Amino acid sequence: MRIIDQIYINGQFTTPHGSELGDLINPTTGELTGQVRLGDVEDTRRAIAAAKAAFPAFSRSTIAQRGMYLERLHDAVLARADEAAAALMEEYGGTYAGSIARSQYTAKMFLDVKKVMEEHAFVKTVGKSKVVLEPVGVVGVITPWNSSAWFVANKLATAIAAGCTLVIKPSELSALQTQILAECLHEAGLPPGVFNIVNGRGDVVGAEISAHPDINKISFTGSTAVGKAIARAAVDSMKRVTLELGGKSANVLLDDADFEKAVPMAIQACYMNNGQACIAGTRLLVPAHRLEQVKQLAKAAAEAVVVGDPRNPAVTLGPMVTRKQFERVQHYIRTGIAEGAELLTGGLGQPAGLEQGWFVQPTVFANVTPDMTIAREEIFGPVLSILSYETEEEAVAMANDTPYGLQAYVSSTDLARAGRVASQLVAGRVHINGIHDDLIAPFGGFKQSGIGREFGPYGLDSYLEPKAILGESAQYA
Ligand code: NAD
Repeated sequence: MRIIDQIYINGQFTTPHGSELGDLINPTTGELTGQVRLGDVEDTRRAIAAAKAAFPAFSRSTIAQRGMYLERLHDAVLARADEAAAALMEEYGGTYAGSIARSQYTAKMFLDVKKVMEEHAFVKTVGKSKVVLEPVGVVGVITPWNSSAWFVANKLATAIAAGCTLVIKPSELSALQTQILAECLHEAGLPPGVFNIVNGRGDVVGAEISAHPDINKISFTGSTAVGKAIARAAVDSMKRVTLELGGKSANVLLDDADFEKAVPMAIQACYMNNGQACIAGTRLLVPAHRLEQVKQLAKAAAEAVVVGDPRNPAVTLGPMVTRKQFERVQHYIRTGIAEGAELLTGGLGQPAGLEQGWFVQPTVFANVTPDMTIAREEIFGPVLSILSYETEEEAVAMANDTPYGLQAYVSSTDLARAGRVASQLVAGRVHINGIHDDLIAPFGGFKQSGIGREFGPYGLDSYLEPKAILGESAQYA
C-alpha cells in the first residue's frame, strides 16, 4: 500500500493538518493500491499565505530569470517522464502510447511557454500611453483527473512566465501523478512560496481557494457545474477567472468527405483518452443518404478497438477512472437504449474477461435525434452518437444546437467548403480533416464550455493585467 501523506507549502514537503484519507484505486483491477492524506482549510490558508508572501519579489523577477526556471522545470519533469507515464497508466488507466506522449508533452510545454514569454510584448504603446502588462497576483489552480499533471503543468508554466505565484489543488484522484510532479517542481529550485500544492477535496480545499480574498485569479479545468460554483464564489473578491469546462463536440462529415478515413477518425476523436476527454467528438453528424455506409464503417472501427490493461501497448482503450464514472457511462447507455437510439455495437456491461476493472464496451449509437439525452449531455466515456442531416445548413444548426462550444471537427475534400462550415461553427477550436495538436493556438470554449483561453499568447495574457501609464511615462519602471 502506498501512502501519500505530504503536501507542498513554501518550498517544503509537509504533513497536512487535515487528517481525512482518500483511497487510491487502480481502475484496471479495481484494487485499493494506496491512500492519500487530504489537506483541509487550514492547510489551504497556509498555502495562500505563502504564495502571497512570495508574490512581491517574484512579480519583479526578470524574463531571463523566469526563462531559467522554466528550463529547469522542463529538465526536471523530463527526467521522470517514464515514471509519470507509469503513474498515469496506474491511477487513470491512460493507454501506453497516450501516457508516454502526454508525459513527454508535459515536459516540453515548459519550453513552449518560455518561447511564448520571450516573444510576448509586456510593454506596448497604445494611443499616447505606455501599457505595461503586470502579473495578476496569486493564482488558484484547480484541475480535474483526466490528464491531471498535464493541466497542472500548463497552468503553472504560464503563471510563472507571467510572474504570478500559485496555490494548486489537483484532483484528489491523481495523487500519484501529483506527487511525482511536485518532486520534479521542487527539484527545479524555485523560490519558496512561488508554487504550493494542496491535495484535498473540491468542496473543502477548492472551495476555500475559490472564495479566499488573497487569491486574485482562478484557473479551473473541470465540469461546467463546478465551474459555475467557482465563478459564483470568486465574484465577491472580483477574481479573474479562466474556466475550461465541458463539451459535446460535433464532428461534421460533409458528403464529399473521404469516409473511409473520416469515420475511423471519428471513432478516435470520440474514444480519445478512454472517451474521458472534454474535446471528444461525441456527436457524429452525417448526410442522411450516406448513413448506411457510415454505420458499417463506424461499427467496424469501434469493434477494432482493443480494450484492456493499458500497460499493454496494443491496447487502445483503457478503463473509466472510477466505479462512479463507469456507472455514469452505463446510465447513459441505458438511457440511449430506452429513448430509442439504435445500438450498433457495444452496450451495457464490461467486455468479456475484463470484469475486474471499470471497463466500458466501445459503444456506437445510430439514429440518434437531437433531443435525445445522449445527444445533449456530456457522457465522458467511449460512446458515439450518430445523427443524420439533409443539408449543410441543417448540419451547422445541429452542430451548434448545444449549450457547449468547446471544439468541432469537419471533414470534406473541398477545403473551401470545410472552411465555410468551420466559420459557422460556434466552438473555440475547429479541426479540419483530422485531429490536430497545437499547444500555442488558443484553447477554450464558447458558451457553457467556459470563459477565457489557455495556451500561447492568449493564455499568457490571461495571467496579466494591463496597466496604462499616461503622460510622462519614460521614467516608469
Ligand atoms: P469536476 O468539476 O468534478 O472536478 C474538477 C476539480 O474541481 C477537482 O479538483 C475537484 O476536486 C474540484 N472541485 C469539486 N467541487 C468543487 C468546489 N465546490 N469548489 C472548488 N473546486 C471543486 O471535474 P472532473 O470530474 O474532475 O473532470 C471531468 C470534467 O472536466 C468534465 O466535465 C470535462 O469536460 C471537464 N474538462 C474540461 C477540460 C477543458 O479544457 N475544457 C479539460 C478536461 C476536463
